[in-house]
Amino acid sequence: MGDVMNVQTEINKPQTVADARKIVSLRTQAFIGGKFVDSLSGKTLSSSSPIDGSHLANVAACDHRDVDRAVSTARAAFEAGHWRNASPNDRRKTLLKFADTLEANAEELALLETLDLGKPIANTTSVDIPLTIETVRYYAEAINKVYDELGPSPSNAVSMIVREPVGVVAAVTPWNFPLLMAAWKFAPALATGNSVIMKPAEQTSLSLLRVAELAAEAGIPAGVFNVLPGDGPSAGKPLALHMDVDAIVFTGSTAVGKLIMGYAAQSNMKRVGLECGGKSPQIVMADCDNLGAAANAAAWGVFYDQGQVCTAGTRLLVQKDIKDRFLEKVAGIATGLKPGNPLDPKTEFGSLVDETQLNTVLGYIEKGSAEGAHLRAGGKRAMTESGGFYVQPTLFDGVTNEMTIAREEIFGPVISAIEFETLDQALSIANDSIYGLAAGIWTSNVNTAHIAGRALRAGNVWINCWDGSDITTPFGGFKQSGFGRDRSLHAFDKYTELKTIWLQLSN
Ligand code: NAD
Repeated sequence: MGDVMNVQTEINKPQTVADARKIVSLRTQAFIGGKFVDSLSGKTLSSSSPIDGSHLANVAACDHRDVDRAVSTARAAFEAGHWRNASPNDRRKTLLKFADTLEANAEELALLETLDLGKPIANTTSVDIPLTIETVRYYAEAINKVYDELGPSPSNAVSMIVREPVGVVAAVTPWNFPLLMAAWKFAPALATGNSVIMKPAEQTSLSLLRVAELAAEAGIPAGVFNVLPGDGPSAGKPLALHMDVDAIVFTGSTAVGKLIMGYAAQSNMKRVGLECGGKSPQIVMADCDNLGAAANAAAWGVFYDQGQVCTAGTRLLVQKDIKDRFLEKVAGIATGLKPGNPLDPKTEFGSLVDETQLNTVLGYIEKGSAEGAHLRAGGKRAMTESGGFYVQPTLFDGVTNEMTIAREEIFGPVISAIEFETLDQALSIANDSIYGLAAGIWTSNVNTAHIAGRALRAGNVWINCWDGSDITTPFGGFKQSGFGRDRSLHAFDKYTELKTIWLQLSN
């Protein structure tokens, strides 16, 4: 029976964008104050599917007037206090219901994500949506288990150190994990009693708009969870500049992160949290006793989601003695991995998010060759006849850390392999970057592992694995990869003010 059901489910999976569109709810208006509304200008942005380049929907293009409306709605909801003053236990119950509602609609959300972004349905089904739900559950369950503090005051006084919501939180998020990156922000912000305004990336707004509707269905009060689709300069910038927004949290490129800091400084000095880009080094020492696992991690640490992952280990540092042998393995994985239809559950490697991204990636590949790197695998556009935006998994050998493909974030499936001789040399190359999001090392020597773990300047260091982490571990960067942490209980720092109340008793 179980097998029959599975087979039927496989058969029923839509294989074309046209068929998939028929079974998802496309919400295209802004969600403000618990209702879907048009942008005040009436303007829309066209959203298309990178799977075949076809048009998906026209989505509201919000601007500063919609931002004003959303901020005053969010502020009113915060002041009304239905959410902010609800007991943590009650917020927990509503957020758990929200997570259940997301789970009940998981297949549709996965499909929306794949349609809009071209990421394989296998990934959105097994990673993006389950981790989004897990994030909401984690913060729901955490909020009635964290305690405030009593300070060590004298006996005629009581000092209370308490956390309060910051107020109106705006979140500007990227297109690579549209729901997961949003949930890393809205789940802790909502759990701590804030009102939130989400500004998804213009390429991928559809899933978050549907989630806003599900949040309302689960009982999150009107005005507490708002979604403003629109482009960065028109909708994101006025949010970050708004005098009545208390915090702006951002995930995206370092260039835009710097603008966000500037907007906060130019306006009300709102607090800022930034999760930005990366150019993460993955070091493979000759003493690594499992080169097969390391090669797999080197390949999948970049090819997963077509390299559109902020922690992608795009600088592959390999010790001279094993370099040729090792890169042979990585090249084998790269050439064996064929781009395919993202809607097919068997596809492991899908399309890039849009044509602009395709051209950016192809431009970097050209630059790599022009600067003297040796193309070992891939390097070309693929599946052009589909109308979508696919590129082959690509491996460059003979890269130096000065080349453009070693310095700039490509955000595509391109590995830049760099040779080194000693551990010191590897660590110095690894740290020679403006970024510091993630880093890793493969070694069977515990001293080397420990030295590297401390020496690598990055927010996440992985030893004998890549991307070893989960919702319980803080996530964020050093240097120009940003500041502030998503995930874990540390995320609450971004969404709460720490207040000291000193109560003087009779003397
Ligand atoms: P992006 O910086 O172009 O856009 C991110 C968001 O900022 C979008 O919503 C966009 O509309 C908005 N934006 C653009 N210009 C703006 C402006 N002037 N004012 C306000 N908002 C503006 O990034 P992207 O291309 O969507 O995403 C890719 C980038 O995100 C990569 O650099 C990647 O490393 C980074 N990223 C980082 C993390 C992390 O946790 N560190 C996670 C995922 C992605």
